[in-house]
Amino acid sequence: MKVLKFGGTSVGSVNSILSVKKIVEAIEEPVIVVVSALGGITDKLLATSTMASKGDLAYEKELSEIIARHLDVIEGVIEDKEVRMDVQKKVMALLDELSNIFKGVYLINDLSAKTSDTIVSYGERLSSLIVSNVIKDAKLFDSRKYIKTVKQFNKHIVDFDLTNKLIKETFSPLPKVSLVPGFISSSTETGEVTNLGRGGSDYTASILATALGANTLEIWTDVDGFMTADPRVISSAYVIDRLTFTEAMELCNFGAKVIYPPTIYPVYHKNIPIRILNTFNPTAPGTYISKERVKEEGKAIIKGISSINDTCLITVQGLGMVGVIGVNYRIFKTLAKNGISVFMVSQASSENNTTFAVRNADADLAVQVLNDEFALERAQGDMNDTVAEKDLATVAIVGENMKRTPGIAGKLF
Ligand code: ASP
Ligand code: MG
Repeated sequence: MKVLKFGGTSVGSVNSILSVKKIVEAIEEPVIVVVSALGGITDKLLATSTMASKGDLAYEKELSEIIARHLDVIEGVIEDKEVRMDVQKKVMALLDELSNIFKGVYLINDLSAKTSDTIVSYGERLSSLIVSNVIKDAKLFDSRKYIKTVKQFNKHIVDFDLTNKLIKETFSPLPKVSLVPGFISSSTETGEVTNLGRGGSDYTASILATALGANTLEIWTDVDGFMTADPRVISSAYVIDRLTFTEAMELCNFGAKVIYPPTIYPVYHKNIPIRILNTFNPTAPGTYISKERVKEEGKAIIKGISSINDTCLITVQGLGMVGVIGVNYRIFKTLAKNGISVFMVSQASSENNTTFAVRNADADLAVQVLNDEFALERAQGDMNDTVAEKDLATVAIVGENMKRTPGIAGKLF
């Protein structure tokens, strides 16, 4: 079996949904199809929630656009009149619930995280319901019933023990075509609806592929694959045909928005290859991601270049750090306790400073907690105040074969 995930643009219009139908119906083996919300709907649900919570009645117009968008799609993709009316009825029931929630948010001028998670879940609930009625013999499953999360630092992380068990139970026996909403999940403790974070449908697909031992995970999107660089910045960028899991991870952590970074680990662990394919150009070979590191003759050693904005370098410095055991331990323990993620680290060989990179958004907290941690050393003059250099961009040059190849860094600089 294999798992196919179709992103927002792939299920965003009548024509694209009809392409999805064609792609899925041509496959002979059993498949699980994971869908995102119709393109742009998640953003719109969130923006509409904010408007309603501020008491802005204009939210009603946004809501009616959301409703019209879904009804238009149904009109275009479901030919059979009886089926169409049935789907319209079910979709309208969901949209009515959604309207009532928005009304509540508007009336009490309050939007809790829980309510926001509930609202945003309708995107995938609606899209999966619609698409399950377009693809022949597709059986619809509700991801809230088997993707379970627990809370950690205000984030919902997957409860893998329970999730894997529930997935195995739910998909046995495995239907020819299972249709599932991406992104959404529910709390192990409370049963409330949660989600896997923006872009999380890829992760849903990866979790399913791993739990069920799929032979491939296909991510169907609106580009031909990973590119050597951001084509909006570098016009000569081209599609990379093969990547290792590590290279793909590096590229997507650094801005290439082709897949949601957490997606890679589960399938990597089970050695299930990922293919990135284009719904709008289905015969293109795409990018194949696997464990194998192939050194292709005549191919560049650098696979790709990517970058992220809004990053910050933080430096902890002091001659009093030299030769002292445990300074780095204290730095990273303090950051971890405060839920701050570090994505790059370097230390001077004399040990007089440690510099690391975080997102701009985490910079102030990082400085504050480190200054507290080293308050005594600073008071004694052994260490300086922590310094943050914000608003930097981080550039990554990616390619596993760079290792032990001289000259790459020189060329880069
Ligand atoms: N619909 C969600 C989002 O836009 C999840 C996804 O599309 O992967 O973030
Ligand atoms: Mg995505």
